[in-house]
Amino acid sequence: MVLRLSTMFLRTLREDPVDAEVASHKLLVRAGYIRRAAPGIYSWLPLGLRVLAKVEAIVREEMNAIGGQEVHFPALLPREPYEATGRWTEYGDALFRLQDRKGADYLLAPTHEEMFTLLVKDLYNSYKDLPVYLYQIQNKYRDEARPRAGLLRGREFIMKDSYSFDIDDAGLDTAYAKHREAYLKIFARLGLEILPVKATAGAMGGSKSEEFLHPTPVGEDTFVRSAGGYAANVEAVTTVVPADIDYSALPAWEVKDTPDTPTIDTLVAVANEVAPRDGGEWTAADTLKNVVIAAKLPTGERRLVAIGLPGDRAVDLKRVEANIAGHLDIGGEVEIEAATEEDLKKNPALVKGYMGPGNGLDHAVLGTEATSGVLYLVDPRVVSGTSWITGANEYGRHVFGLVAGRDFGWDGTIECVEVREGDPAPDGSGPLQTARGIEMGHIFQLGRKYAESLELKVLDQNGKLVTVTMGSYGVGVTRAVAALAETNHDDRGLMWPRNVAPADVHLMVTGKGAELFAEAERIAAALDAQGIEVIFDDRPKVSAGVKFGDAELVGVPTIAVVGRGLAEGLVEVKDRASGTAENIPVADVVQHLIDTVRG
Ligand code: ATP
Ligand code: MG
Repeated sequence: MVLRLSTMFLRTLREDPVDAEVASHKLLVRAGYIRRAAPGIYSWLPLGLRVLAKVEAIVREEMNAIGGQEVHFPALLPREPYEATGRWTEYGDALFRLQDRKGADYLLAPTHEEMFTLLVKDLYNSYKDLPVYLYQIQNKYRDEARPRAGLLRGREFIMKDSYSFDIDDAGLDTAYAKHREAYLKIFARLGLEILPVKATAGAMGGSKSEEFLHPTPVGEDTFVRSAGGYAANVEAVTTVVPADIDYSALPAWEVKDTPDTPTIDTLVAVANEVAPRDGGEWTAADTLKNVVIAAKLPTGERRLVAIGLPGDRAVDLKRVEANIAGHLDIGGEVEIEAATEEDLKKNPALVKGYMGPGNGLDHAVLGTEATSGVLYLVDPRVVSGTSWITGANEYGRHVFGLVAGRDFGWDGTIECVEVREGDPAPDGSGPLQTARGIEMGHIFQLGRKYAESLELKVLDQNGKLVTVTMGSYGVGVTRAVAALAETNHDDRGLMWPRNVAPADVHLMVTGKGAELFAEAERIAAALDAQGIEVIFDDRPKVSAGVKFGDAELVGVPTIAVVGRGLAEGLVEVKDRASGTAENIPVADVVQHLIDTVRG
């Protein structure tokens, strides 16, 4: 294949697009790979399509290798299946909804769990049919609140989504492990550094889930990693829990006046005045801060929950949201927000600024006598025997020396506190550091959630109907193109890895002589005959400077120049990434290029 720049549908641009912030977006537009059609929606031009096809081919090969079978669903789907699983509403504003001429509701699918589940239900009815792994590479639609960075977060984007169907949990574990391996291979072949990080299962409960993050400063996801190899989403980090402390020798608690101390800072200052500590000052870490949050349940109910945590830490609402489902005894998504003044007013036992667990070993009660009825959860660092300064549930008063497990109890512990740099990794592999990444893929053990709501059951060995267990696995294909551009560029343009580059060789003629063009034509044809893909800059009236600039912008890994050197029988061959150039005798240049391309 020879792509002649004299006729190819390509215009490179000298200026960065005004809406572009990140390099991949700027360069993919400037080099003529994509064009913006609307915010977060892009058209693919010939060069872009070629890269996209190569990325898709790698994904397809690895999915086929684990036994995945490719199908293709419409993007335009009826409302009913999504209504059955609750996602028609749960998806909120991110869902593109529309109506047909008869007024029936449709959507542009953001993901396809429902359709795959129904397809298998349609055609299969026995355990003998399972396992089956199905996938597609297809357009997805999400009305993202902030489409950004070109292809990185689009409103129309391409995802490879696969779904596994198994009769039992062991089968699901195998399907999950196979997809995990396949994903590691896909990203290794793409040359993208990837960290599989533990993600929380959220409201779906109990299931395993990992995100494949590509570490990069332009990423929107924050994650933590340790030098020893631990990596996790902030939501999924678990606290290293200190051992219980023997409290038999600790003095009894005492309530003291601490006027005007509604915040931790004011409390610490006053505590050091009214109750100086032997051997050092009180610090925020000695206080037990009690924060009330509101959980919005799927039923519409608004339930208050109190959280106790060391005063030097802050609540991370996303961590609460990811970890609270098990404490509320409900299914479905829970939304968490800070409690409002109004919430607190409705419950007089909650004394704002002076809240604390009940005095006396009164299980999970905020307010000394009055039971607030509010669920009381604590950070895992609040272990038995830890002694605290905390609210006395009276305006302007705090209790000193309140001992966990002796003087107060709680309804449960929850991972709720912000994760800090320097916190220990849960697996003992060293202190945590925060980093940013892009989510390139996500694998998820769905379990029976979708199969239950859509009634996907098959007969087991004993002729009994059982619900199928499922996994769902996504790779962002267009996002991968952007990530590749992001990690493979310099200030002059793109630098594609060979296996996804739009062509193998970028051949150009510099100068005017007919013999130069004739020689370049001969080289292009000889390469083409060997199956080497060539971009051939055969434009007659374009300067050498412009041709070099375009070649560097477009980013094919090997550039060959037929120019002045030809008088001495030489063709220049340049490596786009390293910039190194060699002069190769014209008689050898075709073979040299073939060897370079084939490695
Ligand atoms: P994010 O957290 O980045 O919004 P997500 O968790 O919503 O992603 P999934 O539903 O897990 O995404 O989708 C699977 C994969 O599809 C993601 O891992 C990502 O690679 C890709 N993807 C998701 N949303 C977009 C988007 N708006 N533009 C491009 N790719 C996307
Ligand atoms: Mg995800």
